[in-house]
Amino acid sequence: MSEQAEHAAREEAASRLFSGPVDFLLSAPQLKFLPEPIVPEIAFCGRSNVGKSSLLNALTGRKAIARASVTPGRTQELNFFDVGRPERIEGEDAGLPLFRLVDMPGYGFAKAPVKVVEKWKSLVKSYLRGRAVLARTLVLVDSRHGLKETDREMMTMLDEAAVGYRIVLTKADKIKASDLQVVAEKTAAEAKKHVAAFPEIHLTSSEKGMGIAALRAAVVADALGEGWQG
Ligand code: GDP
Repeated sequence: MSEQAEHAAREEAASRLFSGPVDFLLSAPQLKFLPEPIVPEIAFCGRSNVGKSSLLNALTGRKAIARASVTPGRTQELNFFDVGRPERIEGEDAGLPLFRLVDMPGYGFAKAPVKVVEKWKSLVKSYLRGRAVLARTLVLVDSRHGLKETDREMMTMLDEAAVGYRIVLTKADKIKASDLQVVAEKTAAEAKKHVAAFPEIHLTSSEKGMGIAALRAAVVADALGEGWQG
């Protein structure tokens, strides 16, 4: 199979997987509420308003799977979603999902009380450091703004926790293609300086669907391995 055909086959398989069951599992406001670490997890993080909920909705092809940003009180929690549910075998408990998506609390909120920021940092740091099943993190960055200080802090936290991450530029439809190219190049140059960052930068628009199929395939490969085709 040509490389192109292989990419297409992976995107197709990932799309089929995400059009199957994707179910909200739980919200964890503290570490003790985390689910058992028994399947791979892919975490999503980014500054508040970066377009995280929209991206999660676009990836899963659903209208409102992630509503963290509009639900007060939910913003400081880790939200878990089960992806894929194997056939139930008669007489046995429901099977495990194939993997989980983790919607991490947004950061960089203006005027957040110090206590809230500290609580966020402590929850996120402990999750990142102690989570053996965490297969990959996606760091979302608004195309119009590029990397901000809070993103760099997050990236350093991930470097220190040795959690590999992909940088995803969001809202790519909001700027000119030439400007997008400049932001992507700058971001890639900075990513090179971070040990746990992937060199490739993902350009996406949840609104227009740009880059979504490729990112879906990347997420599935990160969670289940390159060769997974369902
Ligand atoms: P969150 O706070 O990170 O979960 O961000 P949301 O997904 O709620 O998005 C914040 C705002 O950006 C909303 O008004 C979205 O409609 C808008 N938005 C998100 N993604 C895109 C995109 O790809 N293109 C455009 N034009 N707007 C977007």
